[in-house]
Amino acid sequence: MIMNHASPFKKDLVLVGGGHSHVQVIRMLAMKKALRGIRVTLISDESTVCYSGMLPGCLAGLYRPDEMEMELRPLCAWAGIRFIQARVAGLDPAMQQVFFEDGRPPLAYDTLSINIGSIPRGMDTSGVREHAVPTRPLGKLLRRVHQFEGNHRADGQPLRIVIAGGGAAGAELAFAMNARWGERFAPIRITLVESQSTLLTGHNPRVARIIGRYLEEKGITCLTGQRVAGVDEMEVHFEGHPSLPCDFLLWATGGAPPVLLGKTNLDTSDAGFIRVRPTLQVTGHENIFAAGDCIEFESRPLPKSGVYAVREGPFLARNIHAFMENRSPVPYKPQASALALLMTGTRNAVASRRHIAFHGAWVWRLKDWIDRRWMRKFEPSLLPPMDPADDSSRAVKEADGDPDEAAMRCAGCGAKVGSTVLTGVLDELEVYNREDVRIGLHDADDAALLEIPSGRSLVQTVDGFRAFTGDLHLFGRIALVHAASDLYAMGADPHSALVTVTLPYAEKHLVANDLRQLMGGIAEEARRLRITLLGGHTSEGSETAVSVTMNGLTGSDSVFRKGGLRPGDGLVLAKPVGTGIILAADMHLKARGRWVDEVLEGMLQSNGEAARVLAQTCIPAVTDVTGFGLAGHLAEMLEASGTGAEIEVDRVPRYEGIKECIATGLESTLAPSNREHLQKRWQVEAAPGVTDAILYDPQTSGGLLAGVPSARIDEVISKLRDAGYEKAACIGRVTDRMRHLKMF
Ligand SMILES: Cc1cc2nc3c(=O)[nH]c(=O)nc-3n(C[C@H](O)[C@H](O)[C@H](O)COP(=O)(O)OP(=O)(O)OC[C@H]3O[C@@H](n4cnc5c(N)ncnc54)[C@H](O)[C@@H]3O)c2cc1C
Repeated sequence: MIMNHASPFKKDLVLVGGGHSHVQVIRMLAMKKALRGIRVTLISDESTVCYSGMLPGCLAGLYRPDEMEMELRPLCAWAGIRFIQARVAGLDPAMQQVFFEDGRPPLAYDTLSINIGSIPRGMDTSGVREHAVPTRPLGKLLRRVHQFEGNHRADGQPLRIVIAGGGAAGAELAFAMNARWGERFAPIRITLVESQSTLLTGHNPRVARIIGRYLEEKGITCLTGQRVAGVDEMEVHFEGHPSLPCDFLLWATGGAPPVLLGKTNLDTSDAGFIRVRPTLQVTGHENIFAAGDCIEFESRPLPKSGVYAVREGPFLARNIHAFMENRSPVPYKPQASALALLMTGTRNAVASRRHIAFHGAWVWRLKDWIDRRWMRKFEPSLLPPMDPADDSSRAVKEADGDPDEAAMRCAGCGAKVGSTVLTGVLDELEVYNREDVRIGLHDADDAALLEIPSGRSLVQTVDGFRAFTGDLHLFGRIALVHAASDLYAMGADPHSALVTVTLPYAEKHLVANDLRQLMGGIAEEARRLRITLLGGHTSEGSETAVSVTMNGLTGSDSVFRKGGLRPGDGLVLAKPVGTGIILAADMHLKARGRWVDEVLEGMLQSNGEAARVLAQTCIPAVTDVTGFGLAGHLAEMLEASGTGAEIEVDRVPRYEGIKECIATGLESTLAPSNREHLQKRWQVEAAPGVTDAILYDPQTSGGLLAGVPSARIDEVISKLRDAGYEKAACIGRVTDRMRHLKMF
């Protein structure tokens, strides 16, 4: 018997929230090579987080958005840790499980850390949720500002902006909005409202006076001693002051505990924040840590400021590491006061610390230097290279060799996932049941037994790949949607599936965690597409991989084929291409978060509706675009039809970021062989200046490609768009020149 050496992960560390403390934990643990045997997962509701220190400057036009955006995916990939983009909805400290808002299976942890920030106070004030723009999440604030700009038409009437909250954030936002819209939407009227009798109550009176002078200089009105009592579409209401007419209301009140904290069963302070000991361990739960705005120390509350979240980061990293290695965590002693640098809308700032107050251009330069230095620490292209032989750099290899802890693992049938783990996970699975499956997953037998209705034919296909994301639930969903594509491309209805799963060796409870996530994702999509899971096989291997064998049913007269294209037919592509290029960029830490988000979303879009549109329109020639790329799969259709084609490359729908990636020479490792294979067998003629890289890009869960009679192209595209394929487009036409592909 062949034996394999593998170094198992022993414990799961789960980080909830991509706040200022956690990004440092990730960086420090990876650089200190402190992750041996520990599998780390970061869960964040956003893959790109804005840095609050630079957000007012970005709104004022002093920074580009990408200069203050931190990309969590590449940071995690660099550190060799998993990233799950999802919102945590609850926590069970007794079961050591995290629950998700999107309904995916709970994720188990050995050690947990929470760094989820705070939310604006007073969101329950009447009308605020409907009419105000909260300052958190910061990314959403920026989107809402852009949205307002897109919709607002200056009509000579003053634009009335109200900012509720006269603390540091409110004042900076008042300056920022004045800098941004002062000229563009002139005339504007900004009012900064504060419930206390003065602005900036947490700062010394000199700072408040300096800020007050700058506000006055810029014509920003301050209304102090007034609490907002309610808001409607037109006005902001107060109890002791006439209502203020308002076109744009920013809600910049101080930090309140996130709703999640009420669903954690953790000890909280009177204000509702997680109560922590000086070691940043949650009171009563040694294996749960927390930091940043969401905590309150047993001894004294700290102001809700990024400075403290930043300072806590290194202690949090050290203490989590110590705890996981059975050493004693050390106490964190918060500094008595922190330096705050407040932007005034131009390249000028005010410094505040205890009794100190300075202002001027040099303070701005200091602020700019500090903020940029912080952002540089997390800039993917500047992260120090990790030694691939080191266990901490596990982006590529999930289970690396470790002579000290090497476990001798059996191959052959001995390399299956243990039956306790397997049955435990399968028993939890909610499977879509069909009546024509007579023996299936939950029946004790050696194989599945299906009935094929008379007049229907069985269509079978198999597809699979290695995991391209550490979010195994998402990976499972995409694997299933991808496998179903072959059936839709044949005009068949998916019926049932068998799943082969390979998971890296790890401690039993970690394997169970992976299998639960992966199978949960597969079962979720199977339910959505009405596919019954029949059974499958598991094995241990060096990497996570999934292969899905799928059965479909079709009537003999409704089968789509690859052949049947006629010269003059339009070539309609339902989904954009570029998944290979963006995933390659992601692997090289060069993809922006929103590019990857769009691709993942696109891969989850099933081809089922597109197949229905094509069937209704009686389109005979269809295929799905996958590993051989658009050109390769098109060539298969053209060969089967004895035709050629002309492609208008600029019309090929593509995901965001493709242009930037192609410009830097990024491509999937399979692209060169896709190109070579086609160019050897076909006459490929590209017009001068045409960049054809997108045509050879291998697709995961790509769209359907169909030959459509020219008279029906507009109808098909409009139906596809109505069905949710927003980028569906006609990319060229079929010609009578066999084995000839023209690109222009
Ligand atoms: C406009 C503005 C300007 C500011 N300027 C400054 C400044 O100049 N200096 C300063 O020190 N402070 C500043 N602050 C305050 C500062 O932003 C906060 O104190 C700081 O961000 C708190 O950091 P944190 O690490 O606790 O959490 P955050 O930085 O808020 O990070 C929390 C993360 O957790 C994620 N998350 C939240 N809930 C969930 C969930 N349920 N599931 C998964 N993920 C979740 C969030 O999306 C977020 O990415 C400013 C605040 C605002 C609003």
